[in-house]
Amino acid sequence: MKRNQTYCLQCGLPLVGRADKKYCDDGCRNSYHNARMMDANKICRPYHRSLKQNYGVLAEHFNSGQDLVSKDELLMQGFNPKYATGMDLLEDGTMCYGLYDLEYFEQSGRFIKIRKADIPPPVIWGH
Ligand SMILES: [Zn+2]
Repeated sequence: MKRNQTYCLQCGLPLVGRADKKYCDDGCRNSYHNARMMDANKICRPYHRSLKQNYGVLAEHFNSGQDLVSKDELLMQGFNPKYATGMDLLEDGTMCYGLYDLEYFEQSGRFIKIRKADIPPPVIWGH
C-alpha cells in the first residue's frame, strides 16, 4: 500500500525515506526550529523585559532593607502590576504575587509588602 506523500515542514519539498520524517535534512530541521524560536523570542521579549523591570524595582527596595513601599512610588519607578511570575491566595484572602524569588502583596494604605518567596507549588500539581 502506498503511503500518503509527506512534505518537508521547512521547504515544502516531497520527502523520501522513513514515514515519520518531517524534514529533508538537518539543515531544514534547524531552519524550521530557528524560525519558530525567533517567533517565540519576538513574542516573549517584551514580557521578559517587563518582568525584569518589575523585579529590578522590587529588588532594589528589598535589598536596601525596605520591604514596605507605597504603590505610587513603585508605579512611578516603572513597576507594571500586569506582570508577575506567579500568584497565590494568602490565608486572609489577600492575593500574593510572585516575581522570581520575591513576592509581594497589598497592605492597607496603598502599600506593597515585599518578601522572599516561599510558596510551595500549587496542590493540583502533586508531588
Ligand atoms: Zn526541506
